[in-house]
Amino acid sequence: MKQSNLCLVVFLLLLSKSFAQYQSALNSSEIYQKIQQLNVLGSVLYIAAHPDDENTALISYFANHKKMQTAYLSLTRGDGGQNLIGPELREKLGLIRTQELIAARAIDGGQQFFSRANDFGYSKTPEETFSFWNKPEILHDVVLAIRRFKPDIIINRFDHRTSGTTHGHHTASAILSLEAVKKAADPHYKLKSSFNFPTWQVKRVFFNTSWWFYGSQEKFDAADKSNMIKLDKGLYSPITGKSNTEIASQSRSQHKSQGFGNTPIRGQQPEYLELVYGKPLQSNDIFEGINTHWSGLENGKSVQKQLNKIIRNYDFTAPENSIEALIDLRKKIKTVKNKHWKNIKLKALDNIVAACAGLYLENVSQEAFATPQDKLNLRLEVTQRSGSPLILEKFWIKGLEVNQTLNHQLSINQPFHTTVKAKIPANTAYSNPYWLNEKPSLGLYKVPNDSLIGLPESNAAFEVTYQFKIKQETIQYKVPVLYKYNDPIAGEVFEPFYVVPPISIGLPTKQLIFTENTPKDIQVELRAFRKDITGELIFDLPENWKYTSENKNLHFKEKGEIKTVKLRVFPPKNSAQAQLKISFKQQNKFYPYTVSFIDYPHIPKQVLLEPAELKLTRLDLKTKAEKIAYIVGAGDAVPEALKVMNYKVDLLHLDQLTSAQKLEQYDAILLGIRAFNVLPELKFKNSWLFDYVKNGGNLIVQYNTSRGLVTEEIAPYPLQLSRDRVTDENAKVTFIDKNHPVLNTPNVLEKSDFDNWVQERGLYFPNTWSDRFTPILSMGDPNESQTQGALLVAPYGKGYYIYTGLSLFRELPAGVPGAYRLLANLIALENEEN
Ligand SMILES: [Zn+2]
Repeated sequence: MKQSNLCLVVFLLLLSKSFAQYQSALNSSEIYQKIQQLNVLGSVLYIAAHPDDENTALISYFANHKKMQTAYLSLTRGDGGQNLIGPELREKLGLIRTQELIAARAIDGGQQFFSRANDFGYSKTPEETFSFWNKPEILHDVVLAIRRFKPDIIINRFDHRTSGTTHGHHTASAILSLEAVKKAADPHYKLKSSFNFPTWQVKRVFFNTSWWFYGSQEKFDAADKSNMIKLDKGLYSPITGKSNTEIASQSRSQHKSQGFGNTPIRGQQPEYLELVYGKPLQSNDIFEGINTHWSGLENGKSVQKQLNKIIRNYDFTAPENSIEALIDLRKKIKTVKNKHWKNIKLKALDNIVAACAGLYLENVSQEAFATPQDKLNLRLEVTQRSGSPLILEKFWIKGLEVNQTLNHQLSINQPFHTTVKAKIPANTAYSNPYWLNEKPSLGLYKVPNDSLIGLPESNAAFEVTYQFKIKQETIQYKVPVLYKYNDPIAGEVFEPFYVVPPISIGLPTKQLIFTENTPKDIQVELRAFRKDITGELIFDLPENWKYTSENKNLHFKEKGEIKTVKLRVFPPKNSAQAQLKISFKQQNKFYPYTVSFIDYPHIPKQVLLEPAELKLTRLDLKTKAEKIAYIVGAGDAVPEALKVMNYKVDLLHLDQLTSAQKLEQYDAILLGIRAFNVLPELKFKNSWLFDYVKNGGNLIVQYNTSRGLVTEEIAPYPLQLSRDRVTDENAKVTFIDKNHPVLNTPNVLEKSDFDNWVQERGLYFPNTWSDRFTPILSMGDPNESQTQGALLVAPYGKGYYIYTGLSLFRELPAGVPGAYRLLANLIALENEEN
């Protein structure tokens, strides 16, 4: 029994809950496609920087039409983007977008890889990107992907030659790709010690160009295309009944957190690839001169012959008739010398055999999660629904003491059920995304266990390996343990099964901000994931901060029991910041985690362990004004910050607002981020807001993107947005008019108020404005000119209109004191003539 024969059954991959089921088997046409794919030995790796950069049409084209091994290497998990479906940002957003990529690949047929690069936010150039990423480490991960996947062809989404024309991550991905191609072939270049992949020579690298990179279709039409080849990505497949672009759209639509729902275009669709490395082409075939057939391998000729016969004789009404021939083919493939292709094709073949036999394998836990030392009750089902019966020899579970020999002859369409009881060992690791086990740096994830680098996600907590005998061949299938329940509406629902700590410490907020010397209370919510557990809450914080708490000694009788503990925190007199660490101590063990779940319909439920910590900030903050309206835009956490500042905040949804008069009661109105991009009503109701200002109100407009505005009239005076941004969060800030009230009332702002900002200063600053506006701040990235568009203030009628692209939506949730003091001043602004 060789490890290499192990295979993870693809037909049992957990698909999204919206399908509310397992993809329990491949249908006859899908099996046929998979058999055809056995006959192709070429591979394509697509490389870019973010989830959503990838060209799903090309991935589907190579995976489904060309039947190549196809993969997407996304250097980052997209942590730095914005989230259109919920409040998760940063690493939590990266977790969602990781799962969205996996869901996309399940549709377009590609595989998914990542590097350890953390998406730290926007950067203008690859040099800036590399200064965060630790270039040698990310280069290592790209070389690893190449040596692991062994692509004949690499396709870069971006151009390595045009620094500064797109996001620095993008250009960096293309630069790294080309450098890694050379390193992958270099015997002196060593991967981390967990890996012993041999060197690999990529044959060609292409840049996936398009009109977009030329500025317009006209310019692209006129461009020299002698070094490009043209593909038709709009091909139709009668086997699937779909155009390739339809598959691609469905795949792209998985990027829901990005709002990339996509409607397909049918018909011919040209796609251009420009050769940037490798032998020039004489034809339109990117694989020209590369043998992608079995005949190219030692002992491959007989495989090809047998495979052609299987394809010829395939019976769409009875795929089980192919099983015997497939098993003969399996014996032939085992004699092939090339290990790489042998392993890939044996795995694929075993999955085909399972599909032909209508094999259904399921391991269901009775509970969604358990803790180390718990007893696990599993129900296993093995059902063969077609073909001549297989012998189920045995099954075992790695990490549990489960190993059963059965030698059970299955009967067709008669499920074999068995139950398994096992104790989860005390040293079992908690389920968690492997790249989040340690706090990442801004640009790089820490993965102490090298062998996990590059994998799309953590392995399942437990997997059952089943071993079957069929015509003297031993075949194994690995199937994850899952939790399953019946939902009265959705029907059968599967969720991943997770191993979690016995206690989760839930905090209602990640930070407490004190504007006065008075204490604040929070409710710490403890949830037991194990029954009968007794322990004590431990609080750890610096001396100048004080706390009191009741009932620190706790007993949980039942699993799932929730208890709350009131914690009162006393701030120091002067401005200060501290970290409050909380843990649950049971005998001599500490459980310092918040266990949270991320649950959306299009991805499997995700678990996340975070340190139970609270950031404490004592602000020196004065506020004026009381009642504020917040018009919800694309979604941000600014309203929570306003509440912390003791304002009374009403959240308004513009589409529900029926009268401009309702606005008069507010001392200030804030527009949420990208309001002018996402609220179509603003095309008409902008005048309500401007009238409100005219009558003495104070309107604060946060950043909008320059493209896709619902109206050009975003201010009562001419104001033009640009793509100017200041991405260095430490960029020097100069006060243009030191005496302006915005910098003095009620808080006297200092240079230090621009210290410790996170991720960036701001984005999409205006670059042209009416002289009625007063620019307040000047700033610029290193080696770039200063921009004055970050904060613009204009009196209008009796009130004030303020536009700011400063990233308050990032700084406020991060507890940056200066952002609070500045916002308080913006809100307090009053027109003298009023
Ligand atoms: Zn991107």
